[in-house]
Amino acid sequence: MAEQHYDVAIVGCGIMGSAIARRARRSGLRTIAWDRLIDRARAVGEGVDAAPELQSATGSAEVVVTMLADAAATLSVMDAHHGFDAMKSGSAWVQMATIGLKGIIKARLVASQRSDIVFLDAPVSGTKQPAEDGKLLILASCDRQDVPEPVQRLFRAIGQRTMWLGPVGQGTRMKLVLNSWLASIMEALVETLAVADVLDVPHERFAECIEGGPLGTPWAIAKAKKIDSGKTHETEFPLKWADKDVHLALEAVKETAHDRELPALEAIQKLWDRAVESNLGDRDVSAVYEALKTPAASAR
Ligand code: NAP
Repeated sequence: MAEQHYDVAIVGCGIMGSAIARRARRSGLRTIAWDRLIDRARAVGEGVDAAPELQSATGSAEVVVTMLADAAATLSVMDAHHGFDAMKSGSAWVQMATIGLKGIIKARLVASQRSDIVFLDAPVSGTKQPAEDGKLLILASCDRQDVPEPVQRLFRAIGQRTMWLGPVGQGTRMKLVLNSWLASIMEALVETLAVADVLDVPHERFAECIEGGPLGTPWAIAKAKKIDSGKTHETEFPLKWADKDVHLALEAVKETAHDRELPALEAIQKLWDRAVESNLGDRDVSAVYEALKTPAASAR
């Protein structure tokens, strides 16, 4: 396997990494996947090779995508465990997880050790199904203009749209803005459903009122349906990562403008921290509805 050549290596076979790997493969890209648990990489399936070792994945591909949980995991794998050192000359590291501003600065520092590798800060918007369907929004940023063709090919395979936002850091900034929006909609939705519960208004009638109109965000309506069908355990976007992103957004704002008040986002951070502590972290972000209904989770 070590001698084989791949178009793309996916590092991290969680919800997003495995969906991206399958989509890349279905689009004709030779794809290898690595996870610290080899069974996760083997389970990606559909023609995606599982790498027995990290370096055999990162050292055999034109494009290395990191899709790990957070900055600590990304830096541990690519720096401390030498995933980056093993990369081929002329290849590209595309960092797609949401790792925050401090995280992307550290990752860029690691990447700057080799001028023969192109580094992209390219977090994505969209969850498991959009990744499977090649419908992600890619928030791409890079310090160089000459983005290699294999990267463009990957973006065409997995993305419905790629926004080129400028130098490294800009993709992450946009992602933090987008996920502040997502968190705000999510909390607004579940509290609105709680108002409906108390006032004896059926959720589906509320959804009927807003669907198709200016207030009816399709994402919120889909999440309301997920809540009502009792499927928050079918995780698309884990609550623990949505909470991480609220922390990252607030941290980035406070570092830049320490006296800037964001009362609603700060309240969401506290509520979601408690929901994660009460074992809802691996559930879908829409499980915050359950946290609201559990006094122990919401009123501590
Ligand atoms: P996930 O399913 O929880 O997958 C996380 C991945 O990180 C797994 O491969 C996990 O490995 C790995 N990992 C965690 N800690 C690690 C460590 N210390 N060392 C090595 N590997 C480690 O999460 P996901 O939903 O795919 O999300 C991945 C990233 O994309 C997150 O930053 C998230 O915020 C972001 N994101 C998610 C979505 C979404 O809708 N799900 C959308 C856009 C962006 P194991 O499998 O071995 O545990």
